[in-house]
Parts: sequence; C-alpha cells; structure tokens
Amino acid sequence: VNTSSKQYNVCIGFDILNGLQSMIEGFSPKVSKILIITDDHVAPYYLEEVKKQLSNFDEYIIPSGEQSKSFTYYEKCLAKCFESKLDRNSLIIALGGGVVGDLAGFVAATYMRGIRFVQMPTTLLAHDSAIGGKVAINLPAAKNIVGAFYQPELVLYELNFLQSLPINEWRSGFAEIIKEALISSKDNISWLMNQIHHLENLDQHVIEKCVLMGIQVKNQIVSKDERESGIRAYLNLGHTLGHAIEAYLGYSKTTHGEAIAFGTLFAVYMSEQLFEVDLSFQELVQWFKQLNYPFYMDLETESIIQLMKQDKKNIDLKINYVLLKDFGKPILCELDEHVIKEQLNRFLTMLT
Ligand code: NAD
Ligand code: ZN
Repeated sequence: VNTSSKQYNVCIGFDILNGLQSMIEGFSPKVSKILIITDDHVAPYYLEEVKKQLSNFDEYIIPSGEQSKSFTYYEKCLAKCFESKLDRNSLIIALGGGVVGDLAGFVAATYMRGIRFVQMPTTLLAHDSAIGGKVAINLPAAKNIVGAFYQPELVLYELNFLQSLPINEWRSGFAEIIKEALISSKDNISWLMNQIHHLENLDQHVIEKCVLMGIQVKNQIVSKDERESGIRAYLNLGHTLGHAIEAYLGYSKTTHGEAIAFGTLFAVYMSEQLFEVDLSFQELVQWFKQLNYPFYMDLETESIIQLMKQDKKNIDLKINYVLLKDFGKPILCELDEHVIKEQLNRFLTMLT
C-alpha cells in the first residue's frame, strides 16, 4: 500500500504466520518492546501461536464486541502501554477483527504522539478495516467519531485464522468484498457471482482470490485518496442505508456487513431507477438470498431517513449517496431525502 503518508506491505495467505518474526526484526529503528492487543474470542484460538513468533512482548485482552471501541477501553489500553513501559520505538500488534484493529490503531496513533503498529486481521471483514489507516473509537451517540488516519507498518493476514469465524461473520466480511467488486468492474462481480454459491467451507484458493481482489480494490482507492477528500467515498457504497439500519436495529442486532449488504442492494436498485442502467438487480437479489443475507423488511422509512441525515459524511444535512452509473463506475450524488424515501418505500414493496 502506497499512501501519501506511508508505504507498507500487506502479506496475505495460508501458513504465513512464521514470517512475522523476521518482518518485525527488519523494522528500523529496532523494535524495543511489543504489546499485543486482542479480544477474548480471538485470544484462546490464536494468541499462543502469535506469541511463539515474538520476544519481549506483553499482551492485553479486551472483551470482544463493538462496546470495546470506547473511551473506557481506549484509556485502559493506554494505561497498559505505559505499565508495559512502551517507548517511542515500541510496537503494538492488533490481533483481531475491525474492533481490535480500530481501537489498537487509535491507541498506537496517540500513545506518545504515535508509535508503530502491525495489523493482524482475523475476520474476513478486517480485509477492509486493516487497510487504509482509518482508526477510531466511538462515542455512545456516534460511531467512529473520534479517530485518526494512521497507517500500520505492516498488515499480516494469516488466512488460517478465518477457520474459526462464525458464518454470520463470513457473511459480514463478504458483503464488503461484494461492494469492492461492484465499484471496481463487471468482471469482478461476475466472477464472484459465478464462483460463490454459499459461504460455508470455501475452498482456500477461492478465499485467497476474494480477499486479494477486495484488498487490491481498497488499495487502489486509498493510495490515491488517503484522507477521503474524493474517491475514497466510493467505498461507502451501501453504507448510508447500512449505517442507518445498524443504528435503527442496535449494533448488537446485526453484523456490520449484513446491514451493508442490504444497503448495497438498495443502492443498486436506486442506481437502476435513477440512471436507467441494468445492474442485474434481480440476479443480485436471488444471489443474496442464496447466501442467506438478511432482508430487513420492517424498516420504518421516516426513521431511517432521519438516521441517514445524521451520517457524519453529510455536509449541510444533504444526503450524500454513492450510486453506480455502471459496474465499476461509482458516483457520489447529493440526493434529496424525499427521493430516497420514495425509492426506499418502492424497494421494500418490491422485495415483499
Ligand atoms: P469484530 O472485530 O467485532 O469481530 C467480529 C466478531 O468475531 C467478534 O465477536 C470477534 O471477537 C470475533 N472474531 C474475530 N476473529 C475471529 C476468529 N478468527 N474466529 C472466531 N471469532 C473471531 O468485527 P469486524 O466485523 O471484524 O469489524 C467491525 C468493526 O470494524 C466495526 O467497529 C467497524 O466500524 C470497523 N470498520 C473499520 C473500517 C476501517 O476502515 N477502519 C472499515 C470497516 C469496518
Ligand atoms: Zn463497511
């Protein structure tokens, strides 16, 4: 990944964990001390394996789940850094999904005005969150509202770690891959639709190809627009409705990606309606059903619109929406809330 602030490697594959030690030893200046931050679901599976690769480390285990992206756990992590005597040449390893990555990354960005960190994603969704340097914690009223752009030194994605991932988390992460395919090319989305008919026990080769495709798309975008002043916003395809669904239902009621998948379907529907293009909406609906994505049919549309208006990406309370002019041709539109509401009502009626 080649951003304006930093260049770093992303290593992806099965059985690559044993490269960790030598890669960290190659860092300059030499790493003085390591703190591994992980969560209590991931630790029992993989912490020991990772520790075998390291020397002079400490560990900190947070409770799994979105509620750990809070000031409370941010402060606890900082206190642990201090207690573990981390200095300017120390390193934080984020071993986990997007929650651990976002929190540990923000700790790294701010402890002693910034120390180095390594992302070790353990969820499929974290192929997205570990790349690009957005790190953040939440306020009770707003997600990801306190954060930084802060790139890791290295992303090491051991795909064996995905084996223990529950099926709904596969679905969640795969939604971002679908999004990346739709905004990049017709070939990418056709390939996915032809190859993937379920998300259980996927072939290693297929997993690797999906992850690589998603990361390449994300990389191309963040390398051109690190701080989201332009095209990085395309990665928000499906997220305006998705975020509103998450807030509407409550964050523990759905995974991020499952809400985003439904949002993506709606963005495709609206794009077809507004731009008179064929984006295979009906085929996508059938495919999403086959993959067991939830369809959130009981949305109260007025509340959803109000939630969309609170999205921090909106300027002057107009609703910014990523749509598709075609496969691989995302476009950012400012839409009137009435248009969205009408389309959303039609979309929901159409699916029933
Ligand atoms: P997560 O980190 O909460 O992981 C999901 C669940 O899976 C958790 O219960 C976790 O403990 C468990 N888990 C993780 N790895 C596992 C494994 N290998 N085996 C079994 N269980 C495992 O959530 P996530 O979906 O990875 O990430 C969501 C978070 O990422 C959100 O907070 C979101 O805001 C953030 N995010 C950030 C960016 C970014 O650019 N920084 C992008 C997308 C999402
Ligand atoms: Zn997302």
